Amino acid sequence: MLADQITTPNPEEHIRLQAALRESEILRELAELLASSLDLEHILQVLVKRTAEVCEVERCSVWLLEDARGALRPQTYYLSSHSLDRKTIKAADAMWYRSSLPVDSPAVQRLLQSGGMLYVEDLSASPAMKRLAETFLVRSTLLIPLIREGRPVGMLSLDDPAQTRSFSATQTQLARAIGQQAAIAIDNARLYQQAQAERQRAERLIERVRSIYKVALAVNSSEDLSTVFRIAMENLVRSLGADGGAIALIEEDELRLVSSHFGYVGPNMTGSTQLSRLPNCDYVARTGHPMYVREEEIEGEEILFYRQVGLRNTIIVPLIVRASTTNEDVVNETHLNTPDRCVGLAFVNYYTHTFQPGKGQIAYAQDIAAQCALAIEKFRLLAEVRQAAAKATERATTLDAIFHAMTEGITVADMQGNVMILNNAASHFLGMPKNYKNHLNAFLRRYPTYTVEGQPISEDQFPLTRALRGERIRSERFVTRRADGEERILEINIAPMFDSQGEQIGVVSAFRDVSEAIRSEQRIRQALDTMLRMTDVKAILHSVLERTLTTLNCQQGAVYIFNEEQQKFTPLFTIGFNEESEEHWLKDQQMWLDPEPDEYHGFYRQVIDAHATLINAEQYPYQPNPLGHVMVLAAPIKHNKRVHGLLLLNRSMPRASAAESSASPETGPQERYEFSIWDIAVLEGIAQLAGLAVDQALWQQEAFAARNSEAMLREANESKDDFMAITAHEFRTPLTIVLAQSQLIAKNLTPLQKKLSESGQEVLQKAIANLGIVGEQARHLTGVVETFLEVSQITNGQLTLNSPVDVDLAEIAQQVVNQSSATSPDHTITCEIEPCKQPYIVKGDSARLRQVIANLVENAIKYSPFDGPVTVRMRRALTVEQKHVIEVCVADTGIGIPAEALPHLFERFYRAPNSSSGKGKGVGLGLFLVAELLRLHGGAIRAESSGMFGEGSRFIFTLPGVESAETLD
Ligand code: ADP
Repeated sequence: MLADQITTPNPEEHIRLQAALRESEILRELAELLASSLDLEHILQVLVKRTAEVCEVERCSVWLLEDARGALRPQTYYLSSHSLDRKTIKAADAMWYRSSLPVDSPAVQRLLQSGGMLYVEDLSASPAMKRLAETFLVRSTLLIPLIREGRPVGMLSLDDPAQTRSFSATQTQLARAIGQQAAIAIDNARLYQQAQAERQRAERLIERVRSIYKVALAVNSSEDLSTVFRIAMENLVRSLGADGGAIALIEEDELRLVSSHFGYVGPNMTGSTQLSRLPNCDYVARTGHPMYVREEEIEGEEILFYRQVGLRNTIIVPLIVRASTTNEDVVNETHLNTPDRCVGLAFVNYYTHTFQPGKGQIAYAQDIAAQCALAIEKFRLLAEVRQAAAKATERATTLDAIFHAMTEGITVADMQGNVMILNNAASHFLGMPKNYKNHLNAFLRRYPTYTVEGQPISEDQFPLTRALRGERIRSERFVTRRADGEERILEINIAPMFDSQGEQIGVVSAFRDVSEAIRSEQRIRQALDTMLRMTDVKAILHSVLERTLTTLNCQQGAVYIFNEEQQKFTPLFTIGFNEESEEHWLKDQQMWLDPEPDEYHGFYRQVIDAHATLINAEQYPYQPNPLGHVMVLAAPIKHNKRVHGLLLLNRSMPRASAAESSASPETGPQERYEFSIWDIAVLEGIAQLAGLAVDQALWQQEAFAARNSEAMLREANESKDDFMAITAHEFRTPLTIVLAQSQLIAKNLTPLQKKLSESGQEVLQKAIANLGIVGEQARHLTGVVETFLEVSQITNGQLTLNSPVDVDLAEIAQQVVNQSSATSPDHTITCEIEPCKQPYIVKGDSARLRQVIANLVENAIKYSPFDGPVTVRMRRALTVEQKHVIEVCVADTGIGIPAEALPHLFERFYRAPNSSSGKGKGVGLGLFLVAELLRLHGGAIRAESSGMFGEGSRFIFTLPGVESAETLD
């Protein structure tokens, strides 16, 4: 209607109005179009097409400002010209999209300052734009800046390719208006696009946080490690748009694949690979920095590893366990000193090598990896805790079991004397349930206690009360009644109990019933006493075996005696066998006790080495058959490492039943009553005691015999002494008379010889010779009697020496040797005096000293039946006490002296067992006298001999020499 009213003006006005109307129409349509979309691409396409159409140009293009680059960048264009061939368009197209116009370039600056638009008649005329113009065939162009609220947004360019032209006012006006609309639409679309991108980014971030949360949830739940890894991998792959991934743990220097997540069925997980052989993985593990590694950057063994796992281009992310310094409670040195540790690697895989991860992606992967590391650490700690807990529980249950299995009764008491029963043994003994609690005096009222001697114990003196007062109670014994009323002896140990501050809170006591132990101790002591009192070895061993058989519930046994000389065991007696079975059995034992050289000697050696031994086929794998039925326990009777004999216990099967059982194997082996370790230990103990008893008995017997023989000896010697004294006294005068008379008669008869006939002379000569024998014997007898007298004097302490003078011992020795050589011409008797600056002078009784040497030389001759040489040697010597002495040695090569006789040679009446093999008889007093005489001179004597006939003896005596002022050499 309005249009009708204004149709009256002139035709120019009308055209102008028409144009304005069309223009506004176009603009409205464009504005609508632009506003209808927030899709920038779409807006730009609509913009260039409609602008070209509306403004009647062949080409319209749009450039947008890229803030980051500070340049106008071509976005899209519309071209309707058909004068350009396709090829040229395509080539120009590619270049155009890559070109840009810096905002600060003079052309752009001019445009922005143009205040709405810029008409360039020939773009190629401007040197800066010449290339652009030629490339894109631009001649005359209309440029419209797109400005929104003073901010440049971009630019529109309108032209006809390769043509110089002008633009009408309508065209330029339209273009400017379009530019204004477009700037708004583009800016809006861009803002929208930005907001959209922001939103997407936020969504992505939220998604990532969500997935981290999911993984963290898995970590913190009780999911197992592999589930945590799977969840982590799924999230990582999804959130990062990856094509799969894997997790591998680092153990020592090994990289072990533990989780693999690929779009398809995951590759086979292989064993482990040495980390140091995988340079990229190793680098990430060492530095703790994630890294993106392209397929082509992998070398050597890493290629193989990548192939095995199915990896191509990967982000390698370390799983780092952080040193825990955040929690102040756990800050201690170990924690502080623990550096961050890389416990594994996560691989995020991409098939396309053009992928380039952004910072955010890597940070996200690190977050997930941190969760995985946390899980690993958590599981490690959990495993440790679980292990510790298991150990603790095990220990606690074991302790508990021990506690209840203990034979000792355990109670605890607080400081007020309230006692609680803690374990089975205590509960059983006291007849009250476990954990029953009452005051000590209630217990004592119910169970009065006594000392072992039978004295009642007051509560005040009871061990527990004393322990509560701080006394230490160790193995104290007292008597009380058990719940069943039986009297028992208890042994109690009490220890104080402290709280964590070290304050005493009570006592714990352990008591045990020692009645049986004490009783068996007494029994053993009694048995030992009886054994030790017995002196008959056989009786002892019999009683030992009898008791042992009863104790170990055995019917048969035997005792063997060991013969040390032959190293053989012989049976002493057996118990429990009949005659026939004894014979068989003893024969069986002979097999191992006296084995043939090619048979097994192990059992014999064991018992000889003083070990208890079980003898049966099982212990005898070498020749099992002969011992198939034998089951014998043998323990050596020994003491002080000396084996006296053997104690044998028998549980062998009779031969017949042994044969039967082996003949019918299907009935299975008969149950055999075998010896236990306990039996072996008990028997060994008993055998040791028996050894002790046997030793004691032998010792007693020996002592008894020794006492007897000593008494007898003393008695005999005493009677000999009496006899000697009497003989010496009674025989001396008659002997002197006999000697004197025989000499006198011989002397008187000799002159008569001449007066007698030849036969008479012969008779007389014989009579004189006989008188000589009488005289000789009388002299010998006088010598004996004199010895008797001297010995009697010695035993009565009456022998005295002449007052001592300097005596030259060498001279005396020489004289004795000369004299003896004269009387015993068959012997070579020599005197070897070692040359010395000092004479061999001693202080003493020369007659007695002569007697000493003479006696020794006489014995040497007497006990050298084959006239061997006799030597008297003299030298000066130093005693062990460093005293200078004269040493005389009388050596012979006669019968020698047995070792056992040597210590007794200087006793009176002692004669060595071999003395009868010497010449002439003796009474065993000579050496006694010699030793006494030397003793009276301050000297000493000893004898040496190998005991071998022909090697003779040496009698060596020493006397203190008289020293002159000269020093000895
Ligand atoms: P007897 O009168 O028996 O010779 P002695 O007291 O002189 O008495 O000697 C004691 C024992 O010493 C002798 O019986 C003899 O067995 C032993 N005896 C002494 N001297 C020797 C010797 N030179 N060679 C071997 N045995 C000797």
